[in-house]
Amino acid sequence: MIYLIGSGPGDPGLFTVKGVECMREADAVVYDRLAPEALLDHAPPNAERIYVGKKPGEPTMAQEDINALLVELGRAGKTVVRLKGGDPYVFGRGGEEALDLVKAGLPFEVVPGVTSGIAAPAYAGIPVTHRGISTSVAFVTGHEDPTKGEPDVNWKRLANGAETLVLYMGVGRLAEISSGLIAAGRDPRTPVACVRWGTRSEQETVVGDLRDIADKVAEAKLKPPAITVVGDVVSLRDEGLDWFERRPLFGRRVVVTRARAQAGELSLELERLGAEVFEFPTIEIRPPEDFGPLDGAIRDLDSFDWIVFTSVNGVEAFVERLKHHALDLRAVPRRTKVAAIGPATARRVEEAGLQVDVTPEEYRAEALLSALAEASLVGKKILIPRAKVAREILPEKLRESGAEVTVPPAYESAPSDEGRERLRGLLESGEVDCVTFTASSTVENFVRAFGGEETGRLLSRVRVACIGPITAETARKYGLEIDAEAEEYTIPGLVDAVVNLFAAGPVRKDG
Ligand code: SAH
Repeated sequence: MIYLIGSGPGDPGLFTVKGVECMREADAVVYDRLAPEALLDHAPPNAERIYVGKKPGEPTMAQEDINALLVELGRAGKTVVRLKGGDPYVFGRGGEEALDLVKAGLPFEVVPGVTSGIAAPAYAGIPVTHRGISTSVAFVTGHEDPTKGEPDVNWKRLANGAETLVLYMGVGRLAEISSGLIAAGRDPRTPVACVRWGTRSEQETVVGDLRDIADKVAEAKLKPPAITVVGDVVSLRDEGLDWFERRPLFGRRVVVTRARAQAGELSLELERLGAEVFEFPTIEIRPPEDFGPLDGAIRDLDSFDWIVFTSVNGVEAFVERLKHHALDLRAVPRRTKVAAIGPATARRVEEAGLQVDVTPEEYRAEALLSALAEASLVGKKILIPRAKVAREILPEKLRESGAEVTVPPAYESAPSDEGRERLRGLLESGEVDCVTFTASSTVENFVRAFGGEETGRLLSRVRVACIGPITAETARKYGLEIDAEAEEYTIPGLVDAVVNLFAAGPVRKDG
C-alpha cells in the first residue's frame, strides 16, 4: 500500500490523525523539503527514511525518479508513506505520482493535508474568505511568468476572477505578478501579504499593496517558501487577528540546555508561547561500549530473583536491548520481582508492560536499599541494568546483605557537543535571545563545551535565565550575568521568568 499524505504546512500539530495512523504502519517514508522533519518520528524507528527534496549543491531528484522509487518500493511489498508538504494535490505533483501508481497497478490512498495557502494566511491573521469582503478564493501558482507570451495561468481572467488570490511559489516573481494584475485591471491599492514559513516559529510576514509589495519584500529580504495573499481580506490582520505573531515569545530564539530526554516539557511550553527553541543537550545517552555483560544477563534472565531499575534511561536501554533480541519484558520470569528507584522509573517500567513490586518512599539509592532489605537477600540474584558509571553504593550494600549482584552497563552518558558549532554560529551572529539553565550541571556542561572565557563572550549579548538560586550561583561563579531567576524553582516558574524578561524593556542588552 502506498499512502500519499499531506504533512500540513509546518506546525507539526497540523498533521492529520489519519496521517499519524498511516505513518505508524510505514516500512518506508519518502519525504520532501517542505514536510516537517518532526513528523518522521511517527514512523517506526526501523522504517526507511528517504529524503527526495533539494540538497544544497545537488540537483533535485527528478519527478520521474521519485515516481519510479515509489513504484519500486510498492512492488517490493512495502507499506510506503509518501509525505508531501501541505496537501499532496495542491501544487504538490501528488496527482502525477498517483497516476503512475495506477499505471503500475499498485494500491494507494490519499490523505489530504492542511494546505499552506490557507494555513499560512490564517496564522498571519488573514481569513481567505470573509463575509462582506471576499466570497471567492483562487489558488494560483506564481511559478509562471505573467509577462511571457501565452502562460498557462490566465492572469487577465484571474485578476478580477476571485476576490482573494492565494499565490504559491510566487515571491521570486512578485514584481511581474503585481504589475500583471494591475495591468489586467485589479485595483493597485489592493492589499497584499507575503507569509514566509507560515505556521512555523520562524514565520515572517510582509504587508503592502500591489504597488509596493515587491519592493517591501525585497527590502525585508523575504525568500521562498512563502504564500502571497492578494485581496481586501489582508487588512483583517490589522484588526487583531494576527494571534500567532502576538504570542509573548514569538520570534525569540531560546536555548534549552537539558539532556534531550528531559528537554520536552520546557521546550514545548516555550514553543507554545511562540519561541523558537534550540535544544543544546550537553549530555548524551548512548549505547555502552560492550553489550556482552547485558546480553549475558538477558540470556540468564530466568535465574534472577530481582531486577532493579535505577533510572528511566536504564529501563529504556534494557527494553531496547530485549527488542534487539526479539524479546520484550514478558521475558522476565513471573517469580522475578521488580524494583524501581522512583515514580518516573516505575511509570516507564509499567508502560513497557511490567508490574513494579517495590518503589521506595524517598527516591535515593539508600531508601531503595532499605525497601529491598525488608525481604531476605541472602543468596538472591539481583540484576541492575544501568549506566556504565554510576554510584556504587547500591550494588555494594546489596552484596553486603548477601545477594549476588550483576551490574551490566546498559547505556553510557557522556558529555555531548551535538549542535555546538551551530549554536556558536547563532550566538556569534546575535540570533539567540535567551539561554536557559535548569541545573548547575547544565551551566557546567555549557561552560565545558565552549570554554570559560569564550562562554562569557558568547553570552554577553544574550539574556540568561536560571531555574533557581543554586543554578544562578553556579552561573555567576563562571562570570555570567543573570537576567532572570524563576520565582518558583520549577519548569513553569522558569517559563514565566523568560516571558517576563521579554514583556518589557529592550530585546537585547546592546539594543
Ligand atoms: N502542496 C503544498 C504546496 C507545494 S508548492 C501545499 O499544499 O501547501 C511549494 C510552495 O508552497 C512554496 O513555494 C510556498 O509558496 C508554499 N508553502 C509551502 N509551505 C509553506 C509555508 N509553511 N509557508 C509559506 N508558504 C509555504
